[in-house]
Amino acid sequence: MDVKTKEAVHGSIKKWNRIIAGTGIDLGRYNCPLCQLFFNRCQQMYNSQTCPFNCFGDASYRKWFKHYDKEHRKETDLKIHCPECKESAIAVRDDLKKLLEEG
Ligand SMILES: [Zn+2]
Repeated sequence: MDVKTKEAVHGSIKKWNRIIAGTGIDLGRYNCPLCQLFFNRCQQMYNSQTCPFNCFGDASYRKWFKHYDKEHRKETDLKIHCPECKESAIAVRDDLKKLLEEG
């Protein structure tokens, strides 16, 4: 991972720490430093080959989003609404931390 990517992973971990603390919300690519680095503006699509997280393919992020979609969609923001939300947010954050450990 290059320096820029590492910085983005750190930024994304901060985002998830705020979500876990109950002070942040998930705005998808609009507040994810990794998405901002890897979003391909010309093609209007994600470059999943180069983003080390690949949230569409990652089980922890998918679980977080699916749970919200099923249980909390009418409660507006994509943030923590119940203990299961918190559990899956922690799993996403821990997966991001693993990226740093792997280098
Ligand atoms: Zn929930």
